[in-house]
Amino acid sequence: MEENKKLVTILVPAYNEEAVLPMLYDRLKALMDANTAYNFEVLLVNDGSKDKTFSIMQELRSKDKRINYLNLSRNFGKETAMIAGLDYAKGDCVIIIDADLQDPPELIPEMLQYWEQGYDDVYAKRKSRKGETWLKKFTSKMYYKVLQSMTKVEIQKDTGDFRLLDRRCVEALKQIRESQRYTKGLFSWIGYNKKEILYDRDPRAAGQTKWNYRNLVNLSIDGITSFTTSPLRWSAILGILVSLAGFIYMLVIIIKTLVNGVEVPGYASTMVVILFLGGVQLIFLGVIGEYLGRAFYETKGRPLYFIERYNEEKETNLSLKK
Ligand code: UDP
Ligand code: MG
Repeated sequence: MEENKKLVTILVPAYNEEAVLPMLYDRLKALMDANTAYNFEVLLVNDGSKDKTFSIMQELRSKDKRINYLNLSRNFGKETAMIAGLDYAKGDCVIIIDADLQDPPELIPEMLQYWEQGYDDVYAKRKSRKGETWLKKFTSKMYYKVLQSMTKVEIQKDTGDFRLLDRRCVEALKQIRESQRYTKGLFSWIGYNKKEILYDRDPRAAGQTKWNYRNLVNLSIDGITSFTTSPLRWSAILGILVSLAGFIYMLVIIIKTLVNGVEVPGYASTMVVILFLGGVQLIFLGVIGEYLGRAFYETKGRPLYFIERYNEEKETNLSLKK
């Protein structure tokens, strides 16, 4: 490694990516060899893969010492794999990229140019998404709309985790130790100078997507509950409106009874009111429960992850290299 050059870390979270890692390495190697103005470190984070991902990482490192790997003690999920990687990244800037080559490494030189111009967070926005169903695109679009309408933090649309972060952004993100992370929102939340670049998102090079609708729904709820408490506000407002309506209806019934005497029929209206209110109450109990659950997880204050080994060294009980 040459001393006077800046170090660029390429951070790759990987879970069951045996099919793509060799391809990814070839693309990254070409890139690193071509950009001689920088020193490179590739930090591969093995997120508890169940296939040969980890042994491929070890093999790659034996060939090329620019590669470092981090082996988590089990599968923690991409959000946690990313913070683990940020904790261990040594670079003056860190580029986060998916292992599956959906994010073309060829965009990195352009990111580096903007970084040299002084931007702290150069993020890649998708112009198109190949190989994804219209339903996924549609739901993701609607979700961003809803999330954005609820929070003042600007959430970037059509942007994944593919981005370059200056060291100071990395240090900022490292200070945020919440356990149910919604990194996409955190990138915006920390602020700093942002620059958007556009690209066409390729389909996955090989292997299978790790996301299913259950994961996505969970991540979406985490996104909302970690960035805004406005659902709690809504429940209060709706509660007020419903009780107001209930009060008016009560007056109507009293007056009707005074004028017309006691009326026995009324089964339908009673049932409607009971069922409607019961439903509304259950929904908002659920909303409150979501926030309570988050508070519960955060107060436990558990470490975010455990490291099995960093390169050849075994780590014992070190969840955080400080
Ligand atoms: N990933 C991970 N841990 C997980 C799930 C996914 O580190 O529990 C990584 C995965 O290996 C890939 C990236 O996160 O590098 C994005 O995953 P994927 O391509 O499956 O998601 P998609 O692009 O389909 O949204
Ligand atoms: Mg992918």
